[in-house]
Amino acid sequence: MRILVVEDEHRIANAIKKGLEQESFAVDVAYDGEQGFDLAAGEAYDVIILDLLLPKMSGMTLCRRLREEEKNHTPILMLTAKDQLEDKVKGLNAGADDYLPKPFAFAELLARIRALSRRPTNSLQPILAVADLTLNPHGFVVKRAGREISLSRKEFALLEYLLHHQGEIVDKDQLINHVWNYDADILPNTVEVYIGYLRKKLGKPNLIKTKRGFGYIISL
Ligand code: CA
Repeated sequence: MRILVVEDEHRIANAIKKGLEQESFAVDVAYDGEQGFDLAAGEAYDVIILDLLLPKMSGMTLCRRLREEEKNHTPILMLTAKDQLEDKVKGLNAGADDYLPKPFAFAELLARIRALSRRPTNSLQPILAVADLTLNPHGFVVKRAGREISLSRKEFALLEYLLHHQGEIVDKDQLINHVWNYDADILPNTVEVYIGYLRKKLGKPNLIKTKRGFGYIISL
């Protein structure tokens, strides 16, 4: 597996490179958008990790040019600023396959890369589903039995994360890291409270099961 990292913050770029190399990936790093574009267009990669804010060419422009001009459909994981929902939407519209808000845990980055590398290229953004529940990450639409359900941003992020990890037990720390990042004011029962909101909105039968002492799993 060969990965291209396009990130101008050397500390972050080098940490990602080092971590991925330890996982036996081959990694190239570009520290600005132009260099990133040249490498992405000229070499074959399995996944591209692309920062949004870059000198010389933005991540958004790079992504769009790669898709439109080069007809290159290498999976792209876009790194966005924390909680920038607008960036996420723009990134996905520009042709990114997934996004990860900064700061992120390395394990999360790795999981996303693995998921992207398994995904057939050229595919449309998949709709996540379990039973009669569907979530469209592209349009931020959640439906149960065809009826649209309105969720807050955090509820949506929680549900999306659980659906991405369908069939796996997800523990509270994973959810906190994914949805709240490093916010300091998290109470021990915050996750439970939000899971409670989600269950209420999603209705019956309950799809989010509690595994005592372990975490949560989404299934029918
Ligand atoms: Ca940057």
